[in-house]
Amino acid sequence: MKLNTTIDKNIIDGWFAEICPMWPGIALSLEIEKVLYSNKSKYQQIDLFLTTHHGKMLVLDGIIQLTQSDEFAYQEMLAHVPLFSHPDPRHLLVIGGGDGGILREAGRHDCLETIDFCEIDEEVIQVCKQFLPDLACGFDDNRVAVHIGDGNAFVQNQKQMYDVIIVDSSDPVGPGEALFEKPFYESLKHALKPGGLIATQGESFFMHKKYVENLVKITKELFDIQGYSTILVPTYPGGNIGICMGSLGPQLKIPGRQIPEKVQQQLKYYNKEIHKASFVLPGFAQKMMDEI
Ligand code: SAM
Repeated sequence: MKLNTTIDKNIIDGWFAEICPMWPGIALSLEIEKVLYSNKSKYQQIDLFLTTHHGKMLVLDGIIQLTQSDEFAYQEMLAHVPLFSHPDPRHLLVIGGGDGGILREAGRHDCLETIDFCEIDEEVIQVCKQFLPDLACGFDDNRVAVHIGDGNAFVQNQKQMYDVIIVDSSDPVGPGEALFEKPFYESLKHALKPGGLIATQGESFFMHKKYVENLVKITKELFDIQGYSTILVPTYPGGNIGICMGSLGPQLKIPGRQIPEKVQQQLKYYNKEIHKASFVLPGFAQKMMDEI
């Protein structure tokens, strides 16, 4: 299959290079065996590759969203750190995350009664259902209600609805841009029930200093309790990504309830110790957070 021109600049001698102005002068490269899907949707360029050593890889607008080899680290942490921080989550909203990975992980929480899910690009969901059933199985949970549309618009109509909101957004270029701005976080706060909490894809303190500073500033201004957790993900820029969190009550840095043994046995990255450790940041990053 021939790749269209949007992505051609990223393909060099059979390798995909993640060249992006958000991280100038550096690009992770993965060797490609086959192009499984390539199309410009209404919102973004969607590419699905089979890599030689890291399984299938989803790329949106030239930016890696996940590879099968390490997606578990991101999905488990972005789902379980907030969900286990809450003592009794019943109602969850997930914004973004069209691959279904966060839904897969959230589905392990029997206490959840409803899971609203809002993704802007229906084509991402269709592609993942076709090529990544190990993630898209998250959509099979009958507690999940799918809403297709802009998460920023969706959340404005929700008042005191959710115990936990997880924002699994792509980067702040393209359709995800508004999900990194203060009005969106004000809406998220209003959509929380008393004692609720939010967790958003928090970029990398190595690679995206100004975006991290902005997210931390916004959440510090809006929430009494704020935290920044970090995850090791080899195929994200700089090999790490953060979770920026804000809470109306629960502490964030320790699980607020027991992790059931049957859930723990299914997980490869998240556990009680990594939950706590993920909030311990390198000196320069902690200093950056403290100075905001
Ligand atoms: N953590 C992953 C990353 O950045 O590498 C994100 C993965 S997930 C595929 C990101 C999803 O957010 C995409 O499917 C994209 O369509 C969706 N998205 C972007 N902007 C959105 C918006 N305004 N409302 C709802 N979903 C949005």
